[in-house]
Amino acid sequence: MTIIDGKVISAQVKAELKIEVDKIKEAGGSVPHLAAVLIGDNGASESYVASKIKSCEQIGFKSTLVRRDASATEEEVLEIIDELNKDEDINGFIVQLPLPDHINVDKIIEAIDPKKDVDGFHPINIGRMAKGLPAYVSATPYGVLELMKRYDIETSGKHCVVVGRSQIVGLPMSILMQRNAYPGNCTVTLTHSRTQNLKEITLQADILVVALGRPEFITADMVKLGAVVIDVGLTRVEDASKKRGFALKGDVKFDEVSEKASFITPVPGGVGLMTVASLMYNTLLASKGEIYG
Ligand code: NAP
Repeated sequence: MTIIDGKVISAQVKAELKIEVDKIKEAGGSVPHLAAVLIGDNGASESYVASKIKSCEQIGFKSTLVRRDASATEEEVLEIIDELNKDEDINGFIVQLPLPDHINVDKIIEAIDPKKDVDGFHPINIGRMAKGLPAYVSATPYGVLELMKRYDIETSGKHCVVVGRSQIVGLPMSILMQRNAYPGNCTVTLTHSRTQNLKEITLQADILVVALGRPEFITADMVKLGAVVIDVGLTRVEDASKKRGFALKGDVKFDEVSEKASFITPVPGGVGLMTVASLMYNTLLASKGEIYG
């Protein structure tokens, strides 16, 4: 069994990006610039945004944080987006989710200029990705693909089962894994909360990608011997023994599932770190105009 080390791979990806940015700087080119919009004071969102800003610093990108408190109206957020769309110095930006309940997430995402949508959440980017056209691919699924590539995991002809059909993880993951590409060429089954006999299906998975947000939901009896197990889940669970008062848990019961898996991602230290690295990669693509010219 091999533990897929997101810490090592994300550091590699970021080091490669830094080399490219250094070259851009040496040539007098313009430095990639990422902006993040953070509404409210959700603790997890705060830490995700902080790690994105920190990664920008490490790689040499410029970054801008636009903050508003949870009472910001939908109109105010739309105005911020309009300004970021028009700001020629900003190559790409993200709106950190979740947003407060009074703000319509779809309306916000659709207001982002697809050319600056480095999270890959805009319907145009999702549609282009589904058609196999150049697109910003949502950072978490993209990070999973990168892990598979760097660990040389065979995907062609395999049965990939995705648990969870969210727009930002499960759905794009299922589309990417069926593409005629590497990683891809899988036979894909996308499962969700209405799926009957989930265990029968997960037991057929050569590659099991889990993104449902229910800590330790996937147990060893649900996993085929030799499966590749990718745990996207990341839930804060109260833990008084930790300095921060919580521990991060994945959707997979790591100790027992790792005994059956051929490859497995740990939580923390797996997919989460790759999400940030992929966002940085998308920002570099945006600054070079590689997707939309
Ligand atoms: P989400 O929007 O909350 O959706 C959860 C999905 O799981 C839904 O499709 C739901 O089905 C399905 N589900 C719930 N209970 C189920 C059950 N008992 N059996 C089968 N399917 C079930 O999820 P998300 O935003 O993708 O997040 C999932 C997890 O990934 C969370 O822990 C989140 O924190 C984590 N995450 C991590 C990263 C990272 O960078 N590592 C990035 C994004 C998300 P229905 O559609 O039928 O409701």
